[in-house]
Amino acid sequence: MMSLREYTRKRHFQRTPEPVGKKVAKEGRSFVVQKHDATHLHYDFRLELEGVLKSWAVPKGPSLDPSVKRLAMHVEDHPVDYGNFEGTIPEGEYGGGTVMLWDRGYWEPVGDAREGYNNGRLKFKLHGEKLRGGWMLIRTGGAKSDRAKPQWLLFKERDDEARPADQGDILEEQSLSVATGRSLEEIAEHSGQAGNGKAKSK
Ligand code: MN
Repeated sequence: MMSLREYTRKRHFQRTPEPVGKKVAKEGRSFVVQKHDATHLHYDFRLELEGVLKSWAVPKGPSLDPSVKRLAMHVEDHPVDYGNFEGTIPEGEYGGGTVMLWDRGYWEPVGDAREGYNNGRLKFKLHGEKLRGGWMLIRTGGAKSDRAKPQWLLFKERDDEARPADQGDILEEQSLSVATGRSLEEIAEHSGQAGNGKAKSK
C-alpha cells in the first residue's frame, strides 16, 4: 500500500484542517509521533518511506523499556506534510479530536528499509528530540489482526537510550508538544493558531 487513496477517501478537506497532501518524489527519512486524543487517546507513529508516512496507531505509546512491546496497528499511509500537523480535527470527522506533535526528527534504517517493511521486520534508529537509539517494528498477524489494520509490535532495542519501565515513563515525563510546548488541552483551546497554519480559527 503506497498511495494516499485511503487517506483521502476518509477525509473531508473542507471540514478538517489536516493537510490534503500528496506523495512526494524525494526519498526523505522524517519521522513523527503524534499524540492523538480521539475516541481513545493513542500515539500515531509515522516513518517516511517511499514518499509517504507509513503509519501505526500505538494505543499505549512507545516505551523505552525493551521488554515492553507495544501493539502498533498499521493504518493508512499519510502524506509527508502531515508530519507538521498539530491542531484539532472537528468532531464527527474521521479521527476527530486533538493532535499534538509529540516527537519528530529523522530515522535511519538498519539494513534495507523497503525489504524490512515488506517482510514485517523493520529495524531502525531514531534521531528525535525524545526518542533515540535502536527500535524495532515487527508484524505479528495476531488473531485480532485484520487486513485493514495489521498488527505489529513496536519496541525499544537494548542500548544506551533504553530505560527500564520502573525508572519512569517518557510519555508522562515529556508529555508536551515538541513543536509548541503545549499540552493537548492548550492545543484544543487554541485550535486554529497551531502548527501548519492551515487550520481555520473558530
Ligand atoms: Mn490517530
